[in-house]
Amino acid sequence: MKPATRLVHFESCPGDRLRPVATPIYLTTTFEQESALGLGQFDYSRSGNPTRAVLERQLADLEGAAKAFCFSSGLAAITAVTRLLNAGGEILASAFLYGGTCRLFTKLSQYSGIAVRYVGSTDVESFRREIRPATRLVYIETPTNPLLHIIDIAGVAKIAHESGALLCVDNTMMSPYLQNPLLHGADIVIHSATKSLAGHSDVTAGVVAVSDTAIGEEVYSIQNGEGAVLSPFDCYLFLRGMKTLGIRLDRQESNAQKILEFLKQQSAVQHLYYPGLNDNLTGQLHGSQARGGGCVISLETGSKEASQRFVEALELFTIALSFGSVASSVSMPAFMSHASVPPSLRSQNGLPSDLVRLSVGIEDADDLIGDLSQALAKV
Ligand SMILES: *Cc1c(COP(=O)(O)O)cnc(C)c1O
Repeated sequence: MKPATRLVHFESCPGDRLRPVATPIYLTTTFEQESALGLGQFDYSRSGNPTRAVLERQLADLEGAAKAFCFSSGLAAITAVTRLLNAGGEILASAFLYGGTCRLFTKLSQYSGIAVRYVGSTDVESFRREIRPATRLVYIETPTNPLLHIIDIAGVAKIAHESGALLCVDNTMMSPYLQNPLLHGADIVIHSATKSLAGHSDVTAGVVAVSDTAIGEEVYSIQNGEGAVLSPFDCYLFLRGMKTLGIRLDRQESNAQKILEFLKQQSAVQHLYYPGLNDNLTGQLHGSQARGGGCVISLETGSKEASQRFVEALELFTIALSFGSVASSVSMPAFMSHASVPPSLRSQNGLPSDLVRLSVGIEDADDLIGDLSQALAKV
């Protein structure tokens, strides 16, 4: 079955004798045991909950994973992945990362004895040059947020594996509907489901999906041991939102294409960023590992002041952090989502202060273009 079908056809209530078609919310912390010594399928909701189990199985299916785990946020999911390393180990990370991930890695390197080094370029050879025997985990995003650079997942996976390291890909920008890094050699995928996966700006959630059951057992023991699980109610919202992932992203992407065509004609727009837009080679690379460009467009106006005027003049695009929701939003990453990137990394990842990031929603494209047009006139 193709992804659009799998998004709505899955076992929603395994074993339920009433056979409901929507997954019930099991708002229970604990489960009665048949005897003092015999545990049932579920015993305690931190360790496992039926609503979460349905969601995790569905996510594993969509990512082509052996196992998936749902956490209370994207950063809780990333934190769990870092727990796979011991003191003395090293993370080799792309410099083009979500601001909160950089902040987490900086803290981690200060208290845990785990070193973090960054690769300031997106080509595979730079990863080959930088990897060391102590590297246990290579960590990337592709397309990168917010500049939408593309990194070769299979190429970096090969380098990681030759060195005995794991590759983790943050797949938030694409979601499993558009990209499945595990099928290109990655070992771990993380998601901030807060973005496109849940898609309605009403649930904060994270996902870890793994390619093999041995890593899965480790992640399970970290999740159960540290406890940052997703609540049953949030699992329900996530499941409900995810059913429309395909139809939402199809519409968001077709809106994004129309908006790109419009923005290309605007003299106030000095530079446009969209996966593969400015370079055929990376466009081909993206096409070989993903099924679309997604809903995020970035642009530059030439000055921070002009960008601010543009952003504040928009009416349908809400000024807000995050992306991937049904409603369009806009942000200035250097001052918002990426404000927490340490100055040393800023110079490496070259985030322009006039950068504007649009997250295109499911509205009517003409209305969105009308809004962009009136706001650009004020620049
Ligand atoms: C938002 C985001 C995160 C963090 O997720 P939260 O759910 O906010 O904790 C991680 N990676 C990327 C790419 C993100 O956009």
